[in-house]
Amino acid sequence: MSMFVNWLESLHVDLNITNKCSRKRNIRSTCSICFDGCKYNALTINQQKFEIISERCTSCGDCIISCPLSAIEGMSASREFENGSLIYDEGYTPSVKELLIYKKRGLHSIIIAGNSLNPKWEIVINQANRKLKFLGQNPIIVLKDVNEETLSRRNFFTSIQKEGKQLAKRLAPVEWKKEANEWKLTKYYPDYQFYTVEIDQNKCILCQACFSFCLEKVFSIRDTIILIENEKCVNCKDCTDICPEHAIEINPDIKKRSEIHATFHIKECRDCGKLFHTFQLETEKCHICKDRDPEWLSPYL
Ligand code: SF4
Ligand code: SF4
Repeated sequence: MSMFVNWLESLHVDLNITNKCSRKRNIRSTCSICFDGCKYNALTINQQKFEIISERCTSCGDCIISCPLSAIEGMSASREFENGSLIYDEGYTPSVKELLIYKKRGLHSIIIAGNSLNPKWEIVINQANRKLKFLGQNPIIVLKDVNEETLSRRNFFTSIQKEGKQLAKRLAPVEWKKEANEWKLTKYYPDYQFYTVEIDQNKCILCQACFSFCLEKVFSIRDTIILIENEKCVNCKDCTDICPEHAIEINPDIKKRSEIHATFHIKECRDCGKLFHTFQLETEKCHICKDRDPEWLSPYL
């Protein structure tokens, strides 16, 4: 009986914001990519965290695709493909990220009826193709002049499929509905970096807060070297939001992957005698003593 009740209860859960969401892990998170991109205003903020308003959610899947950390689970609306071609649908516009991922999954063209490509699609395809050029990939081509009759027949079957899917979705247990899709560009283009992570060595106090908050493990330490693996960065901004010194910048910049090595020094503080890390060889005080009013007692005494 309880299995049946659990199954019934699960029918209403469409999307799930997992604990990977920056808003759930970092009180200072400013990420709002899913919220800003939702056309249906189906997300709301409650105590700094996002929640999904299920009555408004249409399961378009835009939030699942846009989240840099793939922190949203659920079943997105399916796009229609045929032999490596995406079938043009005026009802939605794919994102550049989506097209770049489809490309690596085998997409080579977009099929449209006649010359009726919507301007929004045109912009997205052009932007995607510019990025594909940097990524050493062939562009996505647009195939026109497709037989109208074929398209309308296809549209008819697609609508039946969609209806069937909606029905299945309404009836299926939640575990069946969740897709463990990875919507991270870094997974598909491991030889490239989409962002360059820059630490301002004059500001950084090597507190390592960014190291702990970065889910993608972009930062690591080897002896006295900070290693930054730019190709892993997904621009979630967890590091910039948590950094107390505002020492990090994430710059969009597609290029072949590269690592940054930054050497730091381990020194003994002149005032408190504790060991501390610094990028500046000439620094003599740890950051606590440096910022401390000389009239105050040392926190370590
Ligand atoms: S959080 Fe900021 S100050 Fe701390 S180690 Fe990272 S860049 Fe440096
Ligand atoms: S380096 Fe910063 S922006 Fe990039 S994935 Fe890590 S926490 Fe996110």
